[in-house]
Amino acid sequence: MSDMVVGIDLGTTNSEIAAFLNGKVEVLGPEADSMLPSCVGLSPAGALLVGREARHQQTEAVKLGDKEFTPQEISSLILRQLVEWAQRDMNQPIAKAVITVPAYFSDAQRNATREAGELAGLEVVRILNEPTAASLAYGFGDAAHHTALVYDLGGGTFDVSIVSVEGDVTEVLASHGNNQLGGDDFDNLLLGRLEREFQSQYGIDLQNGYPVARARLWWAAEEAKKKLSFEPYVRVREEALVTENGKPLHLDVELSRSEYEEMVRPLIESTLDSVSKALSDAHKSPSDIDAILLVGGSTRTPLIYRRLHELTGLEPRQDVHPDLCVALGAGVLASRLAGHGVERVLVDVSPFSFGPSYLGERGGFPYPHCYHPIIYRNTPLPVTRTESYATAHPHQTSVQIEIYQGEDDDALKNLLVGDFRVEGLRPTREPNEVLCRMSLDLDGILHVTAIEKETGKSKHISIARALREKSPSEIAAARERLKELYSSRAEEGAEIAENEFSLEDADAVSEPEDKAAADLPHALEIVKEAHDLVEQSQLLLGTLHSEDQEEAIELRERIHAAIRSNDAGALKKASAELRELLFFVEGH
Ligand code: ADP
Ligand code: MG
Repeated sequence: MSDMVVGIDLGTTNSEIAAFLNGKVEVLGPEADSMLPSCVGLSPAGALLVGREARHQQTEAVKLGDKEFTPQEISSLILRQLVEWAQRDMNQPIAKAVITVPAYFSDAQRNATREAGELAGLEVVRILNEPTAASLAYGFGDAAHHTALVYDLGGGTFDVSIVSVEGDVTEVLASHGNNQLGGDDFDNLLLGRLEREFQSQYGIDLQNGYPVARARLWWAAEEAKKKLSFEPYVRVREEALVTENGKPLHLDVELSRSEYEEMVRPLIESTLDSVSKALSDAHKSPSDIDAILLVGGSTRTPLIYRRLHELTGLEPRQDVHPDLCVALGAGVLASRLAGHGVERVLVDVSPFSFGPSYLGERGGFPYPHCYHPIIYRNTPLPVTRTESYATAHPHQTSVQIEIYQGEDDDALKNLLVGDFRVEGLRPTREPNEVLCRMSLDLDGILHVTAIEKETGKSKHISIARALREKSPSEIAAARERLKELYSSRAEEGAEIAENEFSLEDADAVSEPEDKAAADLPHALEIVKEAHDLVEQSQLLLGTLHSEDQEEAIELRERIHAAIRSNDAGALKKASAELRELLFFVEGH
Protein backbone atom coordinates (compact mmCIF):
# COMPACT_ATOMS: atom_id res chain seq x y z
CA MET A 1 0.00 0.00 0.00
CA SER A 2 1.36 3.41 -0.91
CA ASP A 3 2.01 5.86 1.85
CA MET A 4 -1.08 8.05 2.22
CA VAL A 5 -0.44 11.80 2.20
CA VAL A 6 -3.22 14.38 2.27
CA GLY A 7 -3.22 18.11 1.45
CA ILE A 8 -4.93 20.52 3.81
CA ASP A 9 -5.93 24.17 3.44
CA LEU A 10 -6.21 25.41 7.00
CA GLY A 11 -8.08 28.61 6.23
CA THR A 12 -9.24 31.35 8.54
CA THR A 13 -12.84 31.00 7.36
CA ASN A 14 -13.03 27.54 5.81
CA SER A 15 -10.75 24.53 5.75
CA GLU A 16 -10.63 21.63 3.30
CA ILE A 17 -8.76 18.38 2.79
CA ALA A 18 -7.77 16.81 -0.54
CA ALA A 19 -6.04 13.62 -1.64
CA PHE A 20 -5.58 11.22 -4.53
CA LEU A 21 -8.72 9.13 -4.93
CA ASN A 22 -10.28 7.41 -7.95
CA GLY A 23 -7.34 8.35 -10.12
CA LYS A 24 -7.39 12.07 -9.39
CA VAL A 25 -6.97 14.72 -6.73
CA GLU A 26 -10.28 15.31 -4.96
CA VAL A 27 -11.63 17.29 -2.05
CA LEU A 28 -12.80 14.78 0.55
CA GLY A 29 -15.63 14.93 3.05
CA PRO A 30 -19.27 14.10 3.64
CA GLU A 31 -20.52 16.08 0.63
CA ALA A 32 -19.15 16.87 -2.77
CA ASP A 33 -16.63 19.70 -2.30
CA SER A 34 -16.90 19.70 1.49
CA MET A 35 -15.75 22.82 3.29
CA LEU A 36 -15.39 22.92 7.05
CA PRO A 37 -16.05 26.30 8.64
CA SER A 38 -12.96 27.00 10.72
CA CYS A 39 -14.83 27.28 14.01
CA VAL A 40 -15.00 25.37 17.23
CA GLY A 41 -17.53 25.80 20.01
CA LEU A 42 -19.29 24.08 22.86
CA SER A 43 -22.87 22.89 22.74
CA PRO A 44 -25.10 23.97 25.64
CA ALA A 45 -24.54 20.47 27.04
CA GLY A 46 -20.79 21.03 26.96
CA ALA A 47 -19.98 18.84 23.94
CA LEU A 48 -17.27 20.04 21.60
CA LEU A 49 -18.54 21.28 18.25
CA VAL A 50 -16.36 21.75 15.19
CA GLY A 51 -17.13 23.46 11.91
CA ARG A 52 -20.64 24.27 10.78
CA GLU A 53 -22.27 23.19 14.03
CA ALA A 54 -19.97 25.49 15.90
CA ARG A 55 -20.71 28.32 13.53
CA HIS A 56 -24.42 27.88 14.12
CA GLN A 57 -23.81 27.87 17.84
CA GLN A 58 -21.84 31.06 17.72
CA THR A 59 -24.74 32.98 16.28
CA GLU A 60 -26.52 32.07 19.49
CA ALA A 61 -23.50 33.57 21.25
CA VAL A 62 -22.39 30.44 23.11
CA LYS A 63 -18.87 30.83 24.38
CA LEU A 64 -16.25 28.12 24.69
CA GLY A 65 -17.22 27.55 28.34
CA ASP A 66 -14.50 28.58 30.71
CA LYS A 67 -11.87 26.44 29.07
CA GLU A 68 -8.99 28.16 27.36
CA PHE A 69 -7.55 26.82 24.14
CA THR A 70 -4.34 27.88 22.42
CA PRO A 71 -4.63 28.70 18.72
CA GLN A 72 -2.70 25.50 17.95
CA GLU A 73 -5.22 23.45 19.92
CA ILE A 74 -8.12 25.04 18.08
CA SER A 75 -6.41 24.37 14.75
CA SER A 76 -5.72 20.77 15.74
CA LEU A 77 -9.42 20.22 16.41
CA ILE A 78 -10.20 21.38 12.90
CA LEU A 79 -7.41 19.27 11.44
CA ARG A 80 -8.66 16.22 13.30
CA GLN A 81 -12.15 16.67 11.91
CA LEU A 82 -10.77 16.97 8.37
CA VAL A 83 -8.60 13.87 8.79
CA GLU A 84 -11.61 11.96 10.03
CA TRP A 85 -13.49 12.91 6.85
CA ALA A 86 -10.58 11.77 4.72
CA GLN A 87 -10.14 8.48 6.59
CA ARG A 88 -13.77 7.69 6.02
CA ASP A 89 -13.50 8.40 2.27
CA MET A 90 -10.15 6.67 1.82
CA ASN A 91 -10.97 3.81 4.11
CA GLN A 92 -7.51 3.85 5.64
CA PRO A 93 -5.62 5.62 8.41
CA ILE A 94 -3.89 8.88 7.52
CA ALA A 95 -0.64 9.93 9.13
CA LYS A 96 0.99 12.45 6.79
CA ALA A 97 -0.09 15.81 5.52
CA VAL A 98 0.93 18.85 3.49
CA ILE A 99 -0.55 21.93 5.17
CA THR A 100 -0.78 25.35 3.53
CA VAL A 101 -0.11 28.76 5.10
CA PRO A 102 -0.33 32.31 3.74
CA ALA A 103 2.86 33.44 1.99
CA TYR A 104 3.38 36.22 4.54
CA PHE A 105 3.42 33.85 7.56
CA SER A 106 6.48 34.22 9.80
CA ASP A 107 8.62 31.27 10.85
CA ALA A 108 6.91 31.31 14.23
CA GLN A 109 3.50 31.07 12.59
CA ARG A 110 4.70 28.25 10.34
CA ASN A 111 6.00 26.38 13.37
CA ALA A 112 2.70 26.88 15.13
CA THR A 113 0.94 25.33 12.13
CA ARG A 114 3.31 22.38 12.22
CA GLU A 115 2.60 22.00 15.93
CA ALA A 116 -1.13 22.02 15.31
CA GLY A 117 -0.64 19.18 12.83
CA GLU A 118 1.35 17.18 15.34
CA LEU A 119 -1.28 17.75 18.02
CA ALA A 120 -3.77 16.28 15.55
CA GLY A 121 -1.57 13.20 15.22
CA LEU A 122 -0.14 14.10 11.80
CA GLU A 123 3.36 14.17 10.47
CA VAL A 124 3.55 17.46 8.58
CA VAL A 125 5.72 16.55 5.59
CA ARG A 126 5.59 20.00 4.01
CA ILE A 127 4.39 23.48 4.89
CA LEU A 128 3.32 24.95 1.55
CA ASN A 129 2.62 28.59 0.65
CA GLU A 130 -1.02 29.08 -0.37
CA PRO A 131 -0.26 30.90 -3.66
CA THR A 132 2.17 28.16 -4.61
CA ALA A 133 -0.48 25.57 -3.86
CA ALA A 134 -2.89 27.44 -6.12
CA SER A 135 -0.43 27.41 -9.00
CA LEU A 136 0.13 23.66 -8.52
CA ALA A 137 -3.63 23.13 -8.78
CA TYR A 138 -3.49 24.84 -12.19
CA GLY A 139 -0.74 22.50 -13.36
CA PHE A 140 2.02 25.09 -13.13
CA GLY A 141 4.28 22.57 -11.38
CA ASP A 142 5.08 20.85 -14.68
CA ALA A 143 8.49 21.02 -16.32
CA ALA A 144 7.98 24.45 -17.91
CA HIS A 145 8.60 27.73 -16.14
CA HIS A 146 5.54 29.71 -15.07
CA THR A 147 5.00 33.05 -13.40
CA ALA A 148 1.57 33.48 -11.84
CA LEU A 149 -0.16 36.30 -10.06
CA VAL A 150 -2.29 34.77 -7.34
CA TYR A 151 -5.07 37.03 -6.07
CA ASP A 152 -6.54 35.54 -2.91
CA LEU A 153 -9.54 37.13 -1.23
CA GLY A 154 -11.02 34.94 1.49
CA GLY A 155 -13.36 35.65 4.36
CA GLY A 156 -11.12 37.81 6.50
CA THR A 157 -7.86 38.26 4.64
CA PHE A 158 -6.55 39.43 1.32
CA ASP A 159 -3.20 38.78 -0.27
CA VAL A 160 -1.69 38.90 -3.71
CA SER A 161 1.51 37.09 -4.59
CA ILE A 162 3.71 36.74 -7.62
CA VAL A 163 5.00 33.18 -7.74
CA SER A 164 7.51 31.55 -10.00
CA VAL A 165 7.18 27.80 -10.46
CA GLU A 166 9.32 25.36 -12.39
CA GLY A 167 8.86 21.70 -11.57
CA ASP A 168 9.49 21.32 -7.86
CA VAL A 169 11.30 24.64 -7.59
CA THR A 170 8.90 27.31 -6.41
CA GLU A 171 9.49 30.84 -5.23
CA VAL A 172 7.26 33.62 -3.97
CA LEU A 173 8.74 36.69 -5.69
CA ALA A 174 6.56 39.25 -3.91
CA SER A 175 3.55 39.31 -1.68
CA HIS A 176 1.29 42.11 -0.51
CA GLY A 177 -1.98 42.21 1.25
CA ASN A 178 -4.25 43.26 4.02
CA ASN A 179 -5.04 40.78 6.74
CA GLN A 180 -7.97 42.92 7.82
CA LEU A 181 -9.85 42.77 4.53
CA GLY A 182 -12.11 40.05 3.24
CA GLY A 183 -15.58 38.89 2.35
CA ASP A 184 -16.69 39.56 5.94
CA ASP A 185 -16.33 43.27 5.18
CA PHE A 186 -18.62 42.88 2.19
CA ASP A 187 -21.14 41.16 4.50
CA ASN A 188 -20.89 44.03 6.97
CA LEU A 189 -21.60 46.62 4.30
CA LEU A 190 -24.70 44.71 3.24
CA LEU A 191 -25.70 44.21 6.86
CA GLY A 192 -25.57 47.97 7.33
CA ARG A 193 -27.74 48.42 4.25
CA LEU A 194 -30.34 45.96 5.60
CA GLU A 195 -30.32 47.57 9.04
CA ARG A 196 -30.93 50.98 7.52
CA GLU A 197 -33.78 49.55 5.49
CA PHE A 198 -35.38 48.12 8.63
CA GLN A 199 -34.89 51.35 10.50
CA SER A 200 -36.47 53.40 7.73
CA GLN A 201 -39.48 51.06 7.60
CA TYR A 202 -40.09 50.62 11.33
CA GLY A 203 -37.95 53.22 13.06
CA ILE A 204 -36.05 50.54 14.97
CA ASP A 205 -32.28 50.63 15.29
CA LEU A 206 -31.23 46.97 15.39
CA GLN A 207 -27.81 47.94 16.72
CA ASN A 208 -29.49 48.78 20.00
CA GLY A 209 -30.41 45.60 21.82
CA TYR A 210 -31.42 43.24 19.01
CA PRO A 211 -28.52 40.76 18.85
CA VAL A 212 -30.59 37.83 17.54
CA ALA A 213 -32.16 39.90 14.77
CA ARG A 214 -28.72 41.22 13.82
CA ALA A 215 -27.26 37.70 13.72
CA ARG A 216 -30.08 36.65 11.41
CA LEU A 217 -29.49 39.63 9.17
CA TRP A 218 -25.77 38.93 9.08
CA TRP A 219 -26.49 35.48 7.69
CA ALA A 220 -28.99 36.90 5.26
CA ALA A 221 -26.43 39.48 4.13
CA GLU A 222 -23.83 36.80 3.40
CA GLU A 223 -26.35 34.69 1.50
CA ALA A 224 -27.45 37.74 -0.51
CA LYS A 225 -23.85 38.59 -1.28
CA LYS A 226 -23.15 35.10 -2.59
CA LYS A 227 -26.22 35.15 -4.81
CA LEU A 228 -25.30 38.54 -6.23
CA SER A 229 -22.20 36.94 -7.72
CA PHE A 230 -24.52 35.07 -10.09
CA GLU A 231 -27.72 37.13 -10.18
CA PRO A 232 -28.39 40.80 -10.97
CA TYR A 233 -30.96 41.02 -8.12
CA VAL A 234 -31.59 39.28 -4.85
CA ARG A 235 -34.56 39.48 -2.54
CA VAL A 236 -33.93 39.41 1.19
CA ARG A 237 -36.96 38.29 3.17
CA GLU A 238 -36.75 37.80 6.91
CA GLU A 239 -40.08 37.00 8.52
CA ALA A 240 -40.73 38.32 12.02
CA LEU A 241 -37.26 39.71 12.37
CA VAL A 242 -38.47 41.61 15.42
CA THR A 243 -41.71 41.23 17.35
CA GLU A 244 -42.96 44.53 18.80
CA ASN A 245 -46.02 44.53 21.05
CA GLY A 246 -46.94 41.09 19.80
CA LYS A 247 -46.73 42.23 16.21
CA PRO A 248 -44.20 40.53 13.91
CA LEU A 249 -42.16 42.94 11.80
CA HIS A 250 -40.84 41.54 8.52
CA LEU A 251 -37.99 42.72 6.39
CA ASP A 252 -38.52 42.37 2.66
CA VAL A 253 -36.12 44.17 0.36
CA GLU A 254 -34.62 43.74 -3.06
CA LEU A 255 -30.94 44.46 -3.60
CA SER A 256 -29.31 44.90 -6.98
CA ARG A 257 -25.84 43.88 -7.95
CA SER A 258 -25.03 47.35 -9.19
CA GLU A 259 -25.95 48.85 -5.83
CA TYR A 260 -23.87 46.21 -4.07
CA GLU A 261 -20.90 46.75 -6.36
CA GLU A 262 -20.85 50.45 -5.58
CA MET A 263 -20.72 49.60 -1.87
CA VAL A 264 -17.73 47.28 -2.16
CA ARG A 265 -15.92 49.11 -4.94
CA PRO A 266 -13.58 51.13 -2.67
CA LEU A 267 -12.48 47.93 -0.92
CA ILE A 268 -11.81 46.23 -4.24
CA GLU A 269 -9.88 49.26 -5.49
CA SER A 270 -7.64 49.02 -2.44
CA THR A 271 -6.76 45.44 -3.39
CA LEU A 272 -5.73 46.64 -6.83
CA ASP A 273 -3.15 48.92 -5.25
CA SER A 274 -1.64 45.83 -3.66
CA VAL A 275 -1.62 44.11 -7.05
CA SER A 276 0.36 47.00 -8.56
CA LYS A 277 2.76 47.01 -5.61
CA ALA A 278 3.35 43.26 -5.82
CA LEU A 279 4.06 43.52 -9.54
CA SER A 280 6.55 46.34 -9.08
CA ASP A 281 8.24 44.61 -6.13
CA ALA A 282 8.71 41.53 -8.28
CA HIS A 283 9.93 43.74 -11.17
CA LYS A 284 7.23 42.29 -13.39
CA SER A 285 4.71 43.83 -15.74
CA PRO A 286 1.45 42.15 -16.70
CA SER A 287 3.06 40.91 -19.90
CA ASP A 288 5.52 38.83 -17.82
CA ILE A 289 2.64 37.04 -16.11
CA ASP A 290 1.41 33.74 -17.53
CA ALA A 291 -1.84 33.82 -15.62
CA ILE A 292 -3.81 35.56 -12.92
CA LEU A 293 -5.32 32.94 -10.64
CA LEU A 294 -8.37 33.83 -8.59
CA VAL A 295 -8.35 32.15 -5.20
CA GLY A 296 -10.67 32.47 -2.20
CA GLY A 297 -14.46 32.42 -2.14
CA SER A 298 -14.81 36.19 -2.39
CA THR A 299 -13.21 36.30 -5.85
CA ARG A 300 -16.54 35.07 -7.23
CA THR A 301 -17.62 38.72 -7.03
CA PRO A 302 -17.75 39.66 -10.74
CA LEU A 303 -16.43 43.18 -10.13
CA ILE A 304 -13.08 41.67 -9.08
CA TYR A 305 -12.69 39.84 -12.36
CA ARG A 306 -13.67 42.94 -14.31
CA ARG A 307 -11.30 45.29 -12.51
CA LEU A 308 -8.33 42.90 -12.71
CA HIS A 309 -9.02 42.46 -16.40
CA GLU A 310 -9.14 46.23 -16.90
CA LEU A 311 -5.96 46.77 -14.89
CA THR A 312 -3.79 44.11 -16.52
CA GLY A 313 -5.41 43.24 -19.83
CA LEU A 314 -5.24 39.58 -18.78
CA GLU A 315 -8.23 37.30 -18.33
CA PRO A 316 -8.11 36.08 -14.74
CA ARG A 317 -8.64 32.36 -14.39
CA GLN A 318 -11.08 30.77 -12.03
CA ASP A 319 -11.54 27.36 -13.59
CA VAL A 320 -10.41 25.59 -10.43
CA HIS A 321 -13.07 26.32 -7.78
CA PRO A 322 -11.65 29.37 -6.01
CA ASP A 323 -12.44 28.20 -2.51
CA LEU A 324 -11.03 24.70 -3.07
CA CYS A 325 -8.04 25.69 -5.16
CA VAL A 326 -5.52 25.89 -2.31
CA ALA A 327 -6.59 22.55 -0.82
CA LEU A 328 -6.48 20.90 -4.25
CA GLY A 329 -3.00 22.29 -4.89
CA ALA A 330 -1.85 20.93 -1.52
CA GLY A 331 -3.47 17.67 -2.66
CA VAL A 332 -1.39 17.72 -5.86
CA LEU A 333 1.84 17.99 -3.90
CA ALA A 334 0.64 15.39 -1.37
CA SER A 335 -0.22 12.98 -4.19
CA ARG A 336 3.22 13.43 -5.74
CA LEU A 337 4.89 12.84 -2.40
CA ALA A 338 2.81 9.67 -2.13
CA GLY A 339 4.17 8.51 -5.47
CA HIS A 340 1.33 9.39 -7.87
CA GLY A 341 2.34 11.20 -11.04
CA VAL A 342 -0.18 14.00 -10.82
CA GLU A 343 0.24 17.10 -12.98
CA ARG A 344 -2.78 19.14 -12.06
CA VAL A 345 -6.32 19.14 -10.81
CA LEU A 346 -8.98 18.01 -13.23
CA VAL A 347 -12.13 20.06 -13.26
CA ASP A 348 -15.13 19.98 -15.52
CA VAL A 349 -15.39 23.34 -17.21
CA SER A 350 -17.31 24.75 -20.11
CA PRO A 351 -14.94 24.89 -23.09
CA PHE A 352 -17.06 27.65 -24.67
CA SER A 353 -18.71 30.93 -23.72
CA PHE A 354 -22.46 31.32 -24.14
CA GLY A 355 -24.68 34.36 -24.18
CA PRO A 356 -27.48 36.20 -25.98
CA SER A 357 -27.08 38.88 -28.61
CA TYR A 358 -28.47 42.29 -27.73
CA LEU A 359 -28.87 45.77 -29.08
CA GLY A 360 -25.84 47.73 -27.96
CA GLU A 361 -23.33 50.12 -29.43
CA ARG A 362 -20.39 49.53 -31.67
CA GLY A 363 -18.21 52.24 -33.09
CA GLY A 364 -20.47 54.82 -31.47
CA PHE A 365 -23.83 53.78 -32.90
CA PRO A 366 -26.44 51.11 -32.30
CA TYR A 367 -25.63 47.58 -33.32
CA PRO A 368 -28.17 44.78 -32.89
CA HIS A 369 -25.76 41.87 -32.66
CA CYS A 370 -23.67 42.86 -29.71
CA TYR A 371 -22.59 39.87 -27.71
CA HIS A 372 -21.33 39.39 -24.21
CA PRO A 373 -21.19 35.97 -22.56
CA ILE A 374 -23.28 35.14 -19.54
CA ILE A 375 -21.38 31.88 -19.06
CA TYR A 376 -17.68 32.35 -19.75
CA ARG A 377 -15.52 29.57 -21.09
CA ASN A 378 -13.50 27.74 -18.42
CA THR A 379 -16.26 28.25 -15.85
CA PRO A 380 -16.52 25.20 -13.58
CA LEU A 381 -19.70 23.22 -14.09
CA PRO A 382 -22.49 23.14 -13.15
CA VAL A 383 -23.17 26.87 -13.31
CA THR A 384 -26.21 29.14 -13.32
CA ARG A 385 -25.90 32.82 -14.11
CA THR A 386 -28.39 35.57 -14.84
CA GLU A 387 -27.97 38.94 -16.50
CA SER A 388 -30.42 41.74 -17.05
CA TYR A 389 -31.40 43.35 -20.36
CA ALA A 390 -33.81 46.09 -21.33
CA THR A 391 -36.33 46.21 -24.13
CA ALA A 392 -35.41 48.66 -26.86
CA HIS A 393 -38.73 50.35 -27.63
CA PRO A 394 -41.67 51.80 -25.73
CA HIS A 395 -44.67 49.46 -25.54
CA GLN A 396 -42.65 46.53 -26.73
CA THR A 397 -44.51 43.29 -26.00
CA SER A 398 -42.15 40.66 -27.31
CA VAL A 399 -38.46 39.94 -27.57
CA GLN A 400 -36.53 37.58 -29.76
CA ILE A 401 -33.73 35.86 -27.85
CA GLU A 402 -30.82 34.46 -29.79
CA ILE A 403 -28.25 32.37 -27.99
CA TYR A 404 -24.71 32.19 -29.30
CA GLN A 405 -21.65 30.16 -28.51
CA GLY A 406 -18.32 31.89 -28.92
CA GLU A 407 -15.97 34.61 -27.80
CA ASP A 408 -16.34 37.41 -30.37
CA ASP A 409 -18.16 40.55 -29.27
CA ASP A 410 -19.91 40.53 -32.64
CA ALA A 411 -22.57 37.84 -32.27
CA LEU A 412 -22.60 37.19 -36.00
CA LYS A 413 -19.03 35.94 -35.80
CA ASN A 414 -20.11 33.37 -33.22
CA LEU A 415 -22.29 30.31 -33.56
CA LEU A 416 -26.06 30.54 -33.18
CA VAL A 417 -27.08 27.60 -30.98
CA GLY A 418 -30.71 28.41 -30.26
CA ASP A 419 -33.37 31.09 -30.39
CA PHE A 420 -36.84 31.71 -29.09
CA ARG A 421 -39.41 34.40 -28.78
CA VAL A 422 -41.03 35.75 -25.65
CA GLU A 423 -44.47 37.25 -26.26
CA GLY A 424 -47.01 38.97 -24.07
CA LEU A 425 -44.72 41.33 -22.18
CA ARG A 426 -46.37 44.27 -20.48
CA PRO A 427 -46.26 47.25 -22.82
CA THR A 428 -44.34 49.85 -20.81
CA ARG A 429 -43.29 53.36 -21.70
CA GLU A 430 -39.92 53.00 -19.99
CA PRO A 431 -37.60 50.14 -20.98
CA ASN A 432 -38.92 46.88 -19.58
CA GLU A 433 -36.41 44.67 -17.82
CA VAL A 434 -35.95 41.12 -19.08
CA LEU A 435 -33.63 38.74 -17.27
CA CYS A 436 -31.82 36.00 -19.13
CA ARG A 437 -30.82 33.03 -16.98
CA MET A 438 -28.48 30.38 -18.32
CA SER A 439 -27.66 27.07 -16.66
CA LEU A 440 -25.15 24.60 -17.92
CA ASP A 441 -24.79 21.15 -16.44
CA LEU A 442 -22.19 18.45 -16.82
CA ASP A 443 -24.58 16.61 -19.12
CA GLY A 444 -24.03 19.41 -21.64
CA ILE A 445 -27.61 20.66 -21.69
CA LEU A 446 -27.84 24.42 -21.73
CA HIS A 447 -31.03 25.78 -20.20
CA VAL A 448 -32.03 29.31 -21.08
CA THR A 449 -34.88 31.17 -19.41
CA ALA A 450 -36.08 34.65 -20.21
CA ILE A 451 -37.96 36.29 -17.36
CA GLU A 452 -39.91 39.55 -17.37
CA LYS A 453 -38.56 40.95 -14.13
CA GLU A 454 -41.63 42.85 -13.03
CA THR A 455 -44.10 39.96 -13.44
CA GLY A 456 -41.92 36.87 -13.30
CA LYS A 457 -43.48 35.71 -16.54
CA SER A 458 -40.97 33.42 -18.22
CA LYS A 459 -40.16 31.23 -21.17
CA HIS A 460 -37.58 28.51 -21.32
CA ILE A 461 -35.65 26.46 -23.87
CA SER A 462 -33.10 23.67 -23.55
CA ILE A 463 -30.22 23.32 -25.96
CA ALA A 464 -28.79 19.80 -26.11
CA ARG A 465 -25.14 18.89 -26.46
CA ALA A 466 -23.92 22.43 -25.85
CA LEU A 467 -20.48 21.23 -24.75
CA ARG A 468 -19.68 19.08 -27.73
CA GLU A 469 -17.19 20.41 -30.25
CA LYS A 470 -19.16 21.22 -33.40
CA SER A 471 -18.13 19.67 -36.70
CA PRO A 472 -17.55 21.95 -39.69
CA SER A 473 -20.82 20.78 -41.24
CA GLU A 474 -22.72 21.61 -38.04
CA ILE A 475 -21.11 25.05 -38.01
CA ALA A 476 -22.14 25.56 -41.63
CA ALA A 477 -25.66 24.41 -40.79
CA ALA A 478 -25.83 26.84 -37.87
CA ARG A 479 -24.73 29.71 -40.10
CA GLU A 480 -27.33 28.69 -42.67
CA ARG A 481 -29.98 28.74 -39.94
CA LEU A 482 -28.91 32.22 -38.98
CA LYS A 483 -29.44 33.38 -42.55
CA GLU A 484 -32.81 31.66 -42.73
CA LEU A 485 -33.80 33.22 -39.46
CA TYR A 486 -33.35 36.66 -40.92
CA SER A 487 -34.92 35.96 -44.26
CA SER A 488 -37.96 34.31 -42.68
CA ARG A 489 -38.41 37.37 -40.55
CA ALA A 490 -38.13 39.51 -43.62
CA GLU A 491 -41.14 37.63 -44.98
CA GLU A 492 -43.01 38.34 -41.79
CA GLY A 493 -42.75 41.88 -43.05
CA ALA A 494 -44.08 44.40 -40.63
CA GLU A 495 -43.38 42.22 -37.63
CA ILE A 496 -40.27 43.61 -36.09
CA ALA A 497 -38.28 41.81 -33.47
CA GLU A 498 -37.84 44.52 -30.94
CA ASN A 499 -34.45 43.80 -29.54
CA GLU A 500 -33.13 43.63 -33.06
CA PHE A 501 -32.41 47.00 -34.36
CA SER A 502 -31.13 45.51 -37.60
CA LEU A 503 -34.55 44.30 -38.59
CA GLU A 504 -36.02 47.74 -38.33
CA ASP A 505 -33.21 49.09 -40.35
CA ALA A 506 -33.47 46.35 -42.85
CA ASP A 507 -37.07 47.25 -43.52
CA ALA A 508 -36.04 50.77 -44.30
CA VAL A 509 -33.09 49.75 -46.38
CA SER A 510 -35.11 47.55 -48.70
CA GLU A 511 -36.07 49.88 -51.48
CA PRO A 512 -38.37 48.40 -54.10
CA GLU A 513 -36.21 49.42 -57.04
CA ASP A 514 -33.15 47.80 -55.54
CA LYS A 515 -33.62 44.06 -55.74
CA ALA A 516 -30.54 43.15 -53.77
CA ALA A 517 -31.41 45.44 -50.90
CA ALA A 518 -34.85 43.86 -50.59
CA ASP A 519 -33.13 40.69 -49.56
CA LEU A 520 -32.87 41.00 -45.80
CA PRO A 521 -29.52 39.31 -45.16
CA HIS A 522 -28.13 41.60 -47.78
CA ALA A 523 -29.60 44.66 -46.06
CA LEU A 524 -27.99 43.52 -42.85
CA GLU A 525 -24.75 43.33 -44.74
CA ILE A 526 -25.06 46.98 -45.67
CA VAL A 527 -25.49 48.03 -42.07
CA LYS A 528 -22.64 45.78 -41.05
CA GLU A 529 -20.41 47.12 -43.75
CA ALA A 530 -21.13 50.65 -42.58
CA HIS A 531 -20.07 49.54 -39.11
CA ASP A 532 -16.84 48.11 -40.39
CA LEU A 533 -16.12 51.28 -42.34
CA VAL A 534 -16.67 53.43 -39.29
CA GLU A 535 -14.37 51.20 -37.23
CA GLN A 536 -11.75 51.33 -39.94
CA SER A 537 -11.99 55.10 -40.21
CA GLN A 538 -11.46 55.36 -36.49
CA LEU A 539 -8.24 53.38 -36.78
CA LEU A 540 -7.00 55.44 -39.71
CA LEU A 541 -8.10 58.82 -38.42
CA GLY A 542 -4.66 59.75 -37.12
CA THR A 543 -3.07 59.17 -40.52
CA LEU A 544 -5.46 61.45 -42.41
CA HIS A 545 -4.86 65.03 -43.55
CA SER A 546 -6.83 67.45 -41.47
CA GLU A 547 -9.46 68.14 -44.14
CA ASP A 548 -9.85 64.40 -44.77
CA GLN A 549 -10.20 63.94 -41.05
CA GLU A 550 -13.02 66.42 -40.96
CA GLU A 551 -14.67 64.73 -43.90
CA ALA A 552 -14.34 61.29 -42.31
CA ILE A 553 -15.88 62.57 -39.10
CA GLU A 554 -18.70 64.19 -41.01
CA LEU A 555 -19.33 61.01 -43.01
CA ARG A 556 -19.40 58.97 -39.84
CA GLU A 557 -22.00 61.30 -38.44
CA ARG A 558 -24.04 60.99 -41.61
CA ILE A 559 -23.86 57.18 -41.40
CA HIS A 560 -24.87 57.35 -37.78
CA ALA A 561 -27.81 59.64 -38.56
CA ALA A 562 -28.89 57.51 -41.52
CA ILE A 563 -29.04 54.40 -39.38
CA ARG A 564 -30.95 56.18 -36.64
CA SER A 565 -33.51 57.52 -39.10
CA ASN A 566 -33.68 54.27 -41.10
CA ASP A 567 -32.70 56.15 -44.25
CA ALA A 568 -31.34 53.45 -46.54
CA GLY A 569 -30.47 55.73 -49.41
CA ALA A 570 -28.50 58.14 -47.24
CA LEU A 571 -26.75 55.22 -45.54
CA LYS A 572 -25.57 53.75 -48.82
CA LYS A 573 -24.43 57.10 -50.12
CA ALA A 574 -22.46 58.04 -47.01
CA SER A 575 -20.93 54.56 -46.82
CA ALA A 576 -19.81 54.76 -50.43
CA GLU A 577 -18.18 58.15 -49.82
CA LEU A 578 -16.42 56.94 -46.70
CA ARG A 579 -15.25 53.80 -48.48
CA GLU A 580 -13.80 55.93 -51.23
CA LEU A 581 -12.05 58.25 -48.80
CA LEU A 582 -10.49 55.34 -46.92
CA PHE A 583 -9.53 53.62 -50.15
CA PHE A 584 -7.38 56.56 -51.12
CA VAL A 585 -5.78 56.75 -47.71
CA GLU A 586 -4.94 53.08 -47.69
CA GLY A 587 -3.75 53.26 -51.24
CA HIS A 588 -0.80 55.44 -50.15
P1 ADP B 1 -10.56 31.67 3.81
O1 ADP B 1 -9.45 31.50 2.84
O2 ADP B 1 -10.53 32.99 4.52
O3 ADP B 1 -10.72 30.53 4.74
P2 ADP B 1 -12.56 31.17 1.71
O4 ADP B 1 -11.64 31.13 0.58
O5 ADP B 1 -13.29 29.92 2.04
O6 ADP B 1 -11.92 31.79 3.01
O7 ADP B 1 -13.63 32.34 1.42
C1 ADP B 1 -14.68 32.61 2.30
C2 ADP B 1 -15.35 33.88 1.86
O8 ADP B 1 -15.84 33.72 0.53
C3 ADP B 1 -16.56 34.24 2.72
O9 ADP B 1 -16.53 35.63 3.01
C4 ADP B 1 -17.72 33.92 1.81
O10 ADP B 1 -18.86 34.70 2.10
C5 ADP B 1 -17.14 34.26 0.46
N1 ADP B 1 -17.90 33.67 -0.64
C6 ADP B 1 -18.24 32.36 -0.83
N2 ADP B 1 -18.98 32.21 -1.92
C7 ADP B 1 -19.14 33.45 -2.46
C8 ADP B 1 -19.82 33.97 -3.62
N3 ADP B 1 -20.54 33.18 -4.40
N4 ADP B 1 -19.74 35.29 -3.86
C9 ADP B 1 -19.04 36.12 -3.06
N5 ADP B 1 -18.40 35.69 -1.96
C10 ADP B 1 -18.43 34.38 -1.65
MG1 MG C 1 -8.05 30.75 1.84
